[in-house]
Amino acid sequence: MENCIFCKIIKGEIPSCIVYEDEEIIAFKDIHPKAPVHILVIPKKHINCINDIEPEDEKIIGKIYSVIKQLAKVQNIDKNGYRVVVNCGEDGGQEVMHLHFHLMGGKKLPIK
Ligand code: 5GP
Ligand code: ZN
Repeated sequence: MENCIFCKIIKGEIPSCIVYEDEEIIAFKDIHPKAPVHILVIPKKHINCINDIEPEDEKIIGKIYSVIKQLAKVQNIDKNGYRVVVNCGEDGGQEVMHLHFHLMGGKKLPIK
């Protein structure tokens, strides 16, 4: 997608601190972290939001959770726990319209 910030990060056109990458998924540190660990895990395929997930994407969405599990271990937040958040649309507070999973931890997170 032409004007998508996260597609630009995938292509290396915008710098980011990448912590995981394979052929289908990339994970990088959030530019405005809301917790000591705040990583965004995204499919390389441009999907706007949860509403646009197709049956063919189910495998990759499942794999994203496996990557999140690995990252939580590497970041040493697996034992104490963490939060995974996916915002969808305007009411959900989604600012970047490229499906992304927030992985947050490293402190006791506020209820909301
Ligand atoms: P949303 O509100 O859409 O669920 O979350 C978007 C997230 O992307 C925000 O937490 C924001 O800080 C992060 N973000 C926005 N632009 C950039 C960027 O250029 N680089 C990085 N690393 N994160 C970004
Ligand atoms: Zn995109």
